[in-house]
Amino acid sequence: MRTVDIIQKKRDCGALSAEEIRFFVQGVKSGLVSDYQAAALLMAIFLNGMSPDETLVLTLEMLHSGEVMDWSDLPGSKVDKHSTGGVGDKTSLILAPIVAAAGVYVPMISGRGLGHTGGTLDKLQSIPGFKVHLSAAEFRAVLSATHLALGGQTEEIAPVDRKLYALRDVTATVESIPLITASILSKKLAEGIDGLVLDVKFGNGAFMKRFEDGERLAESLVRVGTLAGKQVVALMTEMSQPLGSHVGNSLEVVEAVEVLRGKVESDLGLLSLELAAHMLLLGRAEPDLARARVRARRLLESGAAYRKFEEITEAQGGDPRALSDLGRLPKAERTETYRADRDGVVQRVLAQEVGIAAMALGAGRTTVDSVIDPGVGLILRAKVGDPVRQGDALVTLYYNDDQGLGEALRRLGVAYAIGEESPPRTALIQKVIGAKPN
Ligand code: URA
Repeated sequence: MRTVDIIQKKRDCGALSAEEIRFFVQGVKSGLVSDYQAAALLMAIFLNGMSPDETLVLTLEMLHSGEVMDWSDLPGSKVDKHSTGGVGDKTSLILAPIVAAAGVYVPMISGRGLGHTGGTLDKLQSIPGFKVHLSAAEFRAVLSATHLALGGQTEEIAPVDRKLYALRDVTATVESIPLITASILSKKLAEGIDGLVLDVKFGNGAFMKRFEDGERLAESLVRVGTLAGKQVVALMTEMSQPLGSHVGNSLEVVEAVEVLRGKVESDLGLLSLELAAHMLLLGRAEPDLARARVRARRLLESGAAYRKFEEITEAQGGDPRALSDLGRLPKAERTETYRADRDGVVQRVLAQEVGIAAMALGAGRTTVDSVIDPGVGLILRAKVGDPVRQGDALVTLYYNDDQGLGEALRRLGVAYAIGEESPPRTALIQKVIGAKPN
């Protein structure tokens, strides 16, 4: 078999056989397939697509290019959630303890933030002492003791995805549904889970800006994940304005803890509950979604989920006193206020601009090696639909270094629009794809 023939076949819109895809993935892993040939095939896939069967084979080959965790000795279901990323999205910190508190295992491997979107690992690391780089033995010990482990990706998980993603990043081939599907699922299935809840975001602050594109991605993820033998459900959720009010690493921990302590009635609290309910259903903790919703809320309101978060923090070396006394979390030294320049109603708060504003203050990375400041970020005081008066605080900025302050304020000026009319209300959860028969 020759790589050039595989490239030519896909260039001419052919369907690749399982053997051809396997040859390619193994060649990328071993180095037998050069970067330029891999890049050429990625572009051919980007342009001509892949069938669900081809995408399934690519996913499984990428999955088995590395280690797949095996929890068969732990009784009961293992589930996780994956979000395609957004601004202010800290649902993992809330739903993982809810689901674990119900006795369902959650072996969660998360990523770092890059660009204007945040990452769960950075948020967790803002808790003093919290260790996210666990050895396989430590991950197993924490998971079996607490039903939850919160780790980062290792070299051993889907190594071919790491290589291909780096190539896609520099060859304009990221936005391909089959390539994104195989990339996300190969990493998530390596967690050894039975069920996966996907939060597929669309809108200004999301990877997919248009609903239709998000829908195509959600359908592909559900189809291929199901073909791989997993129970998969996708919630399509709006990301045109940030989720919740806090953006920035320790600030997002603060907001998540507030929800875990009972401040449930917000977009963040309600979305976390709904995602948790789907996880409880996939994890067979409840027989139907209605009962799963009741259970999730009870676990949150009773404080059981908060106690679970304290437990996991302690189990991973973190200081649980930073949760009971939020003043112990890193905090920026200086604040600034961005104010409304007129009376009216907030029409929009562009999530992407808010994410870039937080990044300018030092909360996010421009490159994978950038160092972030855990204490900086923003608190939104007004969101879409809120009435405001001229001079009202719209955003509080927390910063240490005034270098990025001007840029952050400029971005907030673009993010916010204030007008006369009340904007139409849109539902946060717009569609559910692939709800399972339990
Ligand atoms: N996230 C991933 O993990 N992979 C992609 O290809 C895109 C987003």
